[in-house]
Amino acid sequence: MSKITHHIPEEMLRAYAAGTLPQPFAVVIAAHVSLCDACRASVETEAALGGALLSELAPAGLDEGARDRLFAALDTAVPPPPPLRGSGIFPAPVMEALKGQPPRWKMLGGGIRQQILSADGEGSLRLLYIPRGRAVPEHSHGGLELTLVLQGSFSDCEGRFAAGDVEVASDDLDHQPIAGDEGPCICLAATDAPLRFRAMIPRLLQPLFRI
Ligand SMILES: [Zn+2]
Repeated sequence: MSKITHHIPEEMLRAYAAGTLPQPFAVVIAAHVSLCDACRASVETEAALGGALLSELAPAGLDEGARDRLFAALDTAVPPPPPLRGSGIFPAPVMEALKGQPPRWKMLGGGIRQQILSADGEGSLRLLYIPRGRAVPEHSHGGLELTLVLQGSFSDCEGRFAAGDVEVASDDLDHQPIAGDEGPCICLAATDAPLRFRAMIPRLLQPLFRI
């Protein structure tokens, strides 16, 4: 995976490293990080910075045993970087969401298929299969959408996204992704639960749009 050009925004990586993102976003980011050396390094740096900050804040009077327990607790609080390998085109975090099974696609019409992996108060996570050259009907969304390409590519008004690339789409982006000619495009897409996480969105997008 050498030519990733669309990465996870820094603020989002920081929130991921701190473990504060809704689960569907965390899975997409874990999958990207498992494919992307640059974002993986950033997450490891963030996690190390977070640990160092907390160790400075740790009361000086703690005895050694208490400090060890505190650092053990900190280690488990930060999600470990995901394993690098999964199965076929599916990185390990996606295989986990699939519970180790191959996708069970549901036809959506026009040859487009999807499998919903989770949908609850945290948002939704799904796999999408778009036949080559086919457009996904134009849509906007109630909140933030993160899409990771696992196979093939798609293009929309924001550019071309190939395997490993992530598109971050806010709710005001009306976009119509079209799969590339090289073959079917398979993506992992997370959307947030509009009401619950709406307040996070402007903050997460700030570095992106400089609002
Ligand atoms: Zn990246």
